[in-house]
Amino acid sequence: DARPLEGRVAIVTGASSGIGKATAISLARAGVKVAMAARRVDMMKEIQDQITLEGGVAIPVKTDVTKRDEVKELVHHTELTLGPVDILVNCAGVMYYTMMKNLHEDEWERQIDINCKGVTHCIGGVLDGMLKCKKGHIINISSNAGKLGFAGLAVYSGTKFFVEGLSQALRKEVCDSGVRVTCIQPGDVRTELLVHTTDAEAKSAYDGSESCKILEPEDVAKAVVYAISQPEYVGVNEILIEPRQAP
Ligand code: NDP
Repeated sequence: DARPLEGRVAIVTGASSGIGKATAISLARAGVKVAMAARRVDMMKEIQDQITLEGGVAIPVKTDVTKRDEVKELVHHTELTLGPVDILVNCAGVMYYTMMKNLHEDEWERQIDINCKGVTHCIGGVLDGMLKCKKGHIINISSNAGKLGFAGLAVYSGTKFFVEGLSQALRKEVCDSGVRVTCIQPGDVRTELLVHTTDAEAKSAYDGSESCKILEPEDVAKAVVYAISQPEYVGVNEILIEPRQAP
């Protein structure tokens, strides 16, 4: 089957770059109609052009996931344009290496706003519709830092532990309803994520961490498609995917 997920409708947040971009492209190739949500519309328009050329369907929707009203509008627009949303991929996220003692408190708050509140806003936008349709799949892009704390990533790890806890509890709440919840926990992936750090001390502690081949965004996108493609009775609850060699 060339388009095994034909007829499905997805919202992918953080679709303007990295893992979200690769996920939007992979889902569209599998036949999913994709609403891409992020702030940089120009980049999403380029991805839309690529998907259209390949015969897929995708729309860019400028969205800041920290704004609940923008997320509601994203869901509304997607449903009007593409149909009921039955896949949500929460991929928007930021990571700043910060030593807590260096008190980069604005960066702590940004991580909490995007990685935690952004996820709850998006789930809040789609859950009711999924429960009414008795079908849906929520995929949260967590991190291996959602399983283990790393020095220099205390707040980031905390946000991803939040995603893990929320996902476990939500899964138990909705498992009888037909809605599935998957957490994907990538290790280092080659994306823009690492460029935003301003804490030189924390950054230097990680210098040389790319001494081995790290994951490509497409490697994580494949995990997303795998989880969604399994038969309805199968819950792919977690996928921990890391570079084979430890950095
Ligand atoms: P990128 O920096 O390439 O992508 C981050 C995406 O998030 C961008 O599309 C960005 O779009 C979007 N984003 C950021 N802030 C907002 C916002 N307020 N509203 C909407 N979208 C926003 O990094 P990755 O692809 O690596 O990151 C994706 C996810 O993967 C994150 O949750 C990250 O924690 C996780 N992850 C990444 C790992 C890695 O090593 N790269 C490892 C483990 C997990 P825009 O700026 O246009 O809004």
